[in-house]
Amino acid sequence: MVEKQPNMAVDTHVFRVSKRIGLVSQKASTPLAVEKELVKNIDPSLIHKAHHWLILHGRYTCIARNPKCRECGLQQACQWFQKNQFALY
Ligand code: SF4
Repeated sequence: MVEKQPNMAVDTHVFRVSKRIGLVSQKASTPLAVEKELVKNIDPSLIHKAHHWLILHGRYTCIARNPKCRECGLQQACQWFQKNQFALY
């Protein structure tokens, strides 16, 4: 029996949010590279939930043009916020 590898489809939300937060390196410049790093760094049992979380967070909070950092609970963990917080407040 072939064991199924966990995978994570990287759409625009997953790509953007993963890079902003710092879940993947800035060198990951393609969806495939981001997927490989996410799968490597997230426990296989959490991949499915993490995928949904990243999509929803990107859709409603960490939106492309104006991320809602003021209401985001990830400020302290987010690399993008740590670099840009002085421009936001
Ligand atoms: S702090 Fe801002 S940039 Fe970071 S995950 Fe939250 S909304 Fe996105």
